[in-house]
Amino acid sequence: TEDGAAAVAAVEAVAERIEAERDHLTDLDSAIGDADHGGNMARGWAAAAEEARDLDDPDAEAVAKTVGKTLMSEVGGASGPLFGGSLVFAAAELDDGVDAETAVSFAETYLEKVEDRGDARIGDQTMVDALTPAVHTFKKSIETDDRPPIEALAKAVDAAERGVAFTVPIRARKGRASYLGWRSVGHQDPGATSTLFILEELLAVAA
Ligand code: ADP
Ligand code: MG
Ligand code: MG
Repeated sequence: TEDGAAAVAAVEAVAERIEAERDHLTDLDSAIGDADHGGNMARGWAAAAEEARDLDDPDAEAVAKTVGKTLMSEVGGASGPLFGGSLVFAAAELDDGVDAETAVSFAETYLEKVEDRGDARIGDQTMVDALTPAVHTFKKSIETDDRPPIEALAKAVDAAERGVAFTVPIRARKGRASYLGWRSVGHQDPGATSTLFILEELLAVAA
């Protein structure tokens, strides 16, 4: 379907961006983790793009499911099951294709699953700090603004960017960075940062 082809293009754009940001993400993770987030994500998204490209005339749900499964098996670490498992689960929300309404339920389901699996909430210095404001802003903008969905996505990206900045002055309470205690303060979370890059590419492809 057309939605499926757009989804494959989005995955390819994400894979390219993550590869370009590999060292940046690794540097962030080396400060408060084990310096593998760039490699984990680059490996996972490259494999995901390949798997997505190999699908035969897929719909958006099939693309999302395939990417999620591939991320689950290839990314590893704490973030693989969070990015991948949540995507597999949220993919079902796209079974009728992609429109403003299914995009909102997809985003909400994805966030819920990340929260379920990782048990992190806003303020724990994780990907949730980028994701939560993005999803809430997207939903609110779709429901209240009489504007095209692309503008809601643009606002969501701005919200995610502020969320990434918010991870800097706070202390990590989940994941590897939490082992540092107060020493995690002053560092930007790698997973929140990669989440922002993914959203930026979704916006770029949709625009
Ligand atoms: P690992 O920490 O196992 O090496 P990565 O380096 O790939 O995994 O990913 C680290 C990122 O995963 C963190 O920056 C953070 O955003 C995210 N993360 C870790 N634990 C959790 C959690 N419990 N909930 C949400 N996000 C988490
Ligand atoms: Mg790591
Ligand atoms: Mg690791």
